[in-house]
Amino acid sequence: MTQSMPLLRVSHVAKAFDGFRALDDVSFDVDAGEMVALIGPNGAGKSTCFNVLNGQLKPDAGSIAFDGTEAAGLAPRTIWQKGIARTFQIAATFASLSAVENVQLALASRERELHRWWKPIAAMHREEALDLLDRVGMAAAAERTCGVLAYGDIKRVELAIALASRPRLLLMDEPTAGMSSAERASMMALVKQLVVDQRLAVLFTEHSMDAVFGYADRVIVMARGRVIAAGAPDAIRRDAKVNAVYFGAGSLLDETRDQALP
Ligand code: ADP
Ligand code: MG
Repeated sequence: MTQSMPLLRVSHVAKAFDGFRALDDVSFDVDAGEMVALIGPNGAGKSTCFNVLNGQLKPDAGSIAFDGTEAAGLAPRTIWQKGIARTFQIAATFASLSAVENVQLALASRERELHRWWKPIAAMHREEALDLLDRVGMAAAAERTCGVLAYGDIKRVELAIALASRPRLLLMDEPTAGMSSAERASMMALVKQLVVDQRLAVLFTEHSMDAVFGYADRVIVMARGRVIAAGAPDAIRRDAKVNAVYFGAGSLLDETRDQALP
């Protein structure tokens, strides 16, 4: 019997910094239409894993199969064009441009049109940009300057920017960092809706345990560069090794003391 490959298959990936194993034999899958949380204490290797996935770092060993072809070690732009997009923890919009102009720029970048300096931004991809803003619930604020938007709204514009490359896999590094709990819930619900409606695959890191256990279809737990557990949220919550890492070492728990594991 043949089994179809998942959208992303990470196999035996390793990355060391001066002999220090930041990623040590890391393997996991993410499939289309799946929302997967990557969690673990500080220093576990989560960001290194993202950097290897989006091409900012070359893995020392292992394979990253995306949509059936090898992506390990490719340049970031090539990986982005293959359909892996990333949002950042720090807001990355142009404050002096409107929300719709920010998304138009992202669309122009996808089409490599930025060299067409004689063509005003205002004319480029406006309809598609407005459509993307509508998808993230920001249609009404399309003409507002990003500099005056509330933090949660800027994060929504960033999501529209990430979606402009028509990704099949979205990597989200702490998508709700700095948000109020109401903003956090609405952002996570929005991402979940994209996952369900468009079969987008999402891999996200989060310190907020309510975001992880409230929205992830699956949870992957890393500690000291290794995957120590992966599975359904309920199973992860009850996993002895995971509890030992969180409650024993306590490093992640310290940051989320007010929102301990539900
Ligand atoms: P996390 O995102 O889970 O907190 P990171 O992937 O950022 O963990 O870091 C994993 C380990 O690798 C940490 O010990 C960190 O200090 C180390 N590390 C990460 N990036 C580098 C680098 N560029 N050079 C040296 N060490 C690094
Ligand atoms: Mg990190």
